[in-house]
Amino acid sequence: MTRKLPTFLSENENGLWMTEDERENLKIDYRIKEIIFEEKSPIQHVMILDSYSFGRMLVLDGIVQTTSIDGHIYNETISHVPLNIHPNPKKVLIIGGGDCGVAKEVCQYSSVQQIDVVEIDQVVVEACRKYLPEVSGGLSDPRVRFIFEDGVNYAQNSPAIYDVIIVDSSDPIGPAEVLIEKNFYRSLFNALKEDGLMVCQSQSPIFHGEAMEQIFARIDDIFPKTKMFTAVVPTYPGGLWSFTLGSKKYTAPNSVRIRELDTLYINEQLLESCFALPEFMIKQLSFR
Ligand code: SAM
Repeated sequence: MTRKLPTFLSENENGLWMTEDERENLKIDYRIKEIIFEEKSPIQHVMILDSYSFGRMLVLDGIVQTTSIDGHIYNETISHVPLNIHPNPKKVLIIGGGDCGVAKEVCQYSSVQQIDVVEIDQVVVEACRKYLPEVSGGLSDPRVRFIFEDGVNYAQNSPAIYDVIIVDSSDPIGPAEVLIEKNFYRSLFNALKEDGLMVCQSQSPIFHGEAMEQIFARIDDIFPKTKMFTAVVPTYPGGLWSFTLGSKKYTAPNSVRIRELDTLYINEQLLESCFALPEFMIKQLSFR
């Protein structure tokens, strides 16, 4: 008997496959061992799949978000870079981040007193806590507060209380489209204290150059200091991935605290070198 599968899953003589359709121009196939979890939430189609090459993966609307094999590269980069630039982060806001991987990293800082995670989809958080512990780490730290709401609404109504804001969003399609709007970045600016800073993932320099430039330009229009940094994340198309920092005051990483962290990817050398951009990216951003 053939089972009913979502359009991005198919079966052939080699087994079960997931096809990620990268904005219609590129398809990436993952061989799947098992469907661990599947639910259509009011927001999106949520799946946890066990794959041969990347272990367990969170897949939203057919797009891989994080995996147990390479999730730490992205989560450590987007967390530890801002938290080692701000000299004394106490209140941290995470927008998106439903897989809890960023919150897990932020929990390593004893200076941090409050971690607010504003995620639009509660089903993602519940699924990752239960079926993706390598990424979410179980998350029982009392400093973490989940708010299930649209990140745009939350940011618009927030007073200026945060030291660091991390936008850990899905690609800017569907519910995350609003998370690259200029008004959203303005709300983040207003939700930060006078020396606060924000970071976001800003897409692939190889395949989404236009989106990357747009995100950088919008943040640069609002924040007095803007910088870009990168990491290589194998499950993101093209591997090389960009992140943008918008800061009111600090931009220099302080590599002393990073030595105390328990990490698999980031270290003192990477904290400094992740800001070194390849020549083609410098040219892409040179209009600024
Ligand atoms: N690291 C991942 C990446 O770069 O693809 C992102 C992972 S995280 C799972 C992204 C989360 O953003 C998803 O759980 C999604 O539900 C959430 N999200 C999307 N749009 C949102 C919005 N408008 N407000 C809050 N959360 C949102």
